[in-house]
This record gives sequence, structure tokens and C-alpha cells, in this order.
Amino acid sequence: MAEPIITVNNLQKRYGNFEAVRGLSFTIHQGEIFGLLGPNGAGKSTTLEIIETLRDKTSGTVQVCGYDLDSQAELIKQVIGVQLQSSGYYPGLTLTQLLSLFAGLYNTVVDPLQILSLVNLADKASAKVKELSGGQRQRFSIATTLVNRPKVIFLDEPTTGLDPQARRSLWELIRTIRASGTTVVLTTHYMDEAEYLCDRIAIMDQGKLIALDTPDALIDQLLEKGFERKKDVKAATLEDVFIALTGHTLEPI
Ligand code: ADP
Ligand code: MG
Repeated sequence: MAEPIITVNNLQKRYGNFEAVRGLSFTIHQGEIFGLLGPNGAGKSTTLEIIETLRDKTSGTVQVCGYDLDSQAELIKQVIGVQLQSSGYYPGLTLTQLLSLFAGLYNTVVDPLQILSLVNLADKASAKVKELSGGQRQRFSIATTLVNRPKVIFLDEPTTGLDPQARRSLWELIRTIRASGTTVVLTTHYMDEAEYLCDRIAIMDQGKLIALDTPDALIDQLLEKGFERKKDVKAATLEDVFIALTGHTLEPI
């Protein structure tokens, strides 16, 4: 069941004298939602961009879908989807036109409306990116990763800066994508998000892997060390209050 889809072995990345990634080894399984966590500067984006073929590594090996990064980077590009910053889109084009354009880059044809429906943006087919809310933009940028029917998609902080409803809407979208058989690799600074979404989590600090397991196992390991919360936590959080007051529906605009 746990077929490897990405294998990273002793990956190192140096920027000048600075070692951003220091001998990272891990395996991502086919079909899982895999979270890469860690403080700012830990090396998460560097690691993802190397796997995505967008950044050169210093040493180590990477395999994606059976292709080797050193000799088969072009083949890797064909089978992955990478979320870009929304500022990079052509401002004059509609969502439909942008999806067709992206598909053209992969020499394929897509039904833009079908992809937009999947990310709950069918009613925005004729809109431009600048007319979308933050959450809608993020959903659209995820839609663009799907045009080449990738085996694995990479989302670097997909929910940063979004309101609670938009975040939840993205969570459900990510689960839907995974349910269709696509492996999802994401980074996040939100622990509730990682706990809800990720099958397994790798925690990085200063370029090194310091933990890798299921969220449940990581919590159990901490408890086994005798960890106790300082005070009782209420059965609801302020975020629950916010959601209850403003509604569970998808963000309106
Ligand atoms: P994260 O995504 O975990 O916040 P990054 O991978 O972006 O971390 O960065 C890891 C470290 O490498 C940071 O200290 C960052 O300043 C440094 N770094 C990232 N990109 C470059 C670059 N192009 N040149 C020099 N240093 C960089
Ligand atoms: Mg980053």
C-alpha cells in the first residue's frame, strides 16, 4: 500500500557558505497528504523547489514517480503540479483562458469548466484573477496545478493569510484532490491544518529533519515523555466562535 512516489536521499543545499538543507532523507508515499512543517528559514521551500526541479541541489539524490532528478527532470515536470504565486498570472485573461493556456503549455487540452467546478469556481469562469477574493485565488492557483493531471502536487503554504472559512474550503478541496488519487505535498504553519489534513508530517529545523510520523504518533510520542498541557483547554476555540457566528458556508466573495 505504501508505494514510494518521492524518495529524497541525503539532500544538501548550500547558498554560498550557508547550508540551508543539511542531509535530508525521507520518502513520500503514493496517495498520501504529506506535510512539511518547520519554522521560517527551516529549508522547506528550498526542499520543495529542488524536488519540483525549479532549484539546483548541491548534492544528494531525488526520485519522483520513478524518475531521477539528475537525468530525467523533464519527465518529472510532466507528472507534477506546482502552485505558483497568483501575482504571476496574465492580468488580462479570464480563469477559463488561463486554464486553457496552462494546458497548452503541457500540450494537452482540458475542460476549464470541469476544473473550475472541482475548485468551486465555475461561476467565476469569466472573471479575472484580480477580481477574486484571497481564498478564491488560492483555489484557482490549485486548479492550475491540475491541468496536466499530475500524479503529485506541491502546495507551499496554500492557506497562509486566508480567513477560517476559506481555509476550511481549501482543506476540503485538498482532500477531494487526494481522493482522486493525486498525492499532495504541502507546507503549513498551522498545526490544526496539519493535524486535520496530513497523513504524515515531516518536521524540519535548520535544514534537518527532526521528526517524521503520523500526527497521532507524534502526539503520542510527546505524551509518552510525560508532557502535560499547563492548563485545561475549553471545548471550543475562538476560531469555533468565529465560524459559528459567520457561518460554515464557503466564503461569499
Ligand atoms: P522555509 O521555506 O522553511 O521558510 P527556505 O527554504 O525559504 O525556508 O529558506 C531556508 C534558508 O535558506 C533561509 O535561511 C533562507 O534565508 C535561505 N535562502 C533561501 N533562498 C536563498 C537564496 N536564493 N539565497 C540565499 N539564501 C537563501
Ligand atoms: Mg517557505
